[in-house]
Amino acid sequence: MSTAGAGPRHNWAGNVHYAARRHHRPSSLDELRRLVAGSDRLRVVGTGHSFNRLGDTPGELVSLAGLPATVALDEDRRTVTVPAAMRYGDLATWLHARGYALANLASLPHISVAGAIATGTHGSGETIGNLASTVAGLELVTAGGDLLTVDRAADGDTFAGMVVSLGALGVVTRVTLDVVPTFDIRQHVRLGLPRSALDAAFASAYSVSVFTDWRTPRLREVWVKQRADAAPLPAEWLDTTAADGPRHPVPGMPARNCTTQLGEPGPWHERLPHFRLGFTPSSGAELQSEYHVPRGAAAALAALDPVAHLIAPVLQVCELRAVAADGLWLSPNHERDSLAIHFTWTADAAAVLPVVAAVEERLAPFAPRPHWGKVFGLAPAALAAAWPRYTDFLDLARRLDPAGTFRTDLLDHYLPRD
Ligand SMILES: Cc1cc2nc3c(=O)[nH]c(=O)nc-3n(C[C@H](O)[C@H](O)[C@H](O)COP(=O)(O)OP(=O)(O)OC[C@H]3O[C@@H](n4cnc5c(N)ncnc54)[C@H](O)[C@@H]3O)c2cc1C
Repeated sequence: MSTAGAGPRHNWAGNVHYAARRHHRPSSLDELRRLVAGSDRLRVVGTGHSFNRLGDTPGELVSLAGLPATVALDEDRRTVTVPAAMRYGDLATWLHARGYALANLASLPHISVAGAIATGTHGSGETIGNLASTVAGLELVTAGGDLLTVDRAADGDTFAGMVVSLGALGVVTRVTLDVVPTFDIRQHVRLGLPRSALDAAFASAYSVSVFTDWRTPRLREVWVKQRADAAPLPAEWLDTTAADGPRHPVPGMPARNCTTQLGEPGPWHERLPHFRLGFTPSSGAELQSEYHVPRGAAAALAALDPVAHLIAPVLQVCELRAVAADGLWLSPNHERDSLAIHFTWTADAAAVLPVVAAVEERLAPFAPRPHWGKVFGLAPAALAAAWPRYTDFLDLARRLDPAGTFRTDLLDHYLPRD
């Protein structure tokens, strides 16, 4: 990933080269407000870990990494307010040192807070929501350069429309997140889970991720992230065996890139992500797609069995996660406890895209909601049908951004305004 100059010129995966005519890195809020007010087309780039053109623009591309880095903990309200560009990994270290934690993290700590919540990024845990579900407040610069603050308690339903924003409502400059007392996690890897035990596995611990390759009837690995104060996993567990050493989810990749396993307790932020800050997450040469379907894993997975022979040759690894429902309008988990079916593909787009289409066709009966930041090809009508508040979001975007400053080609395609 390039971080030279004002911000990255391409995304982390290298499959999107940003088409912006100019790149900016404002160093003050006033500078940012003047820039937004004077722009006809503008987008923000976080850490560039999305796999599609959602963040691309022919206009001005802005990195917020130069804005003041003040972090403010409110111990009475149990919240922390952070700069939009702060990476989760840096925030986690800061919070843990002060005795606090976030309820959940994604598989990698490398991503920015605002970039992650804009796309509804998630980890796993059937009782815990995605990262956006912990947002308690936002500060943003709207299209005219005005500063708007919104709060979960005061702004109710509209606030629920503004968190998973796809960057379409304004430039988020500060984010307030719920915090909890810090906690420790033990991570075990178990091998060979019968598919029939998937829901039992999800129910067994705080955060559970299951990896498979669509080549064998059993699910290859289960990464069980238990709170350290929970009873240890029994030796005999769901007809699996214990891994004899640390693992990487992608076969052949080095386990040292991953968080500590083998049941050694450690702080939440050093166990909930699979990948360690400072190391390459995942394989590094890849594309990703992901679909959220209602929980009730067996039927959706069975629907993919007939295309397993197409999936396997272009797959590095498939990950299954559970995510609790939330009320955010464009969240993939909007009012739906979800099974997230994730694919880390090879980097060969020509080979991968037809398989993505086949997966989408098989999942269609489950009203799949794609991860907004990954590769997908669902028709706009399918997206509108999957999200009950889709039209409300379009109205909100029209109201906050009447001239379409924050529109992109991808948004025009997936969320047409007219
Ligand atoms: C190796 C790897 C592992 C991943 N693992 C997971 C995972 O475990 N779970 C998961 O759900 N996803 C995962 N993802 C996807 C990733 O979390 C999302 O794509 C996320 O949005 C990336 O955050 P970012 O900071 O890089 O945002 P970017 O990709 O830079 O931006 C994402 C969107 O947010 C907008 N945006 C960014 N900052 C702002 C702002 N301040 N104001 C307004 N809009 C803004 C951008 O314009 C863009 O549209 C993974 C990606 C990679 C590469």
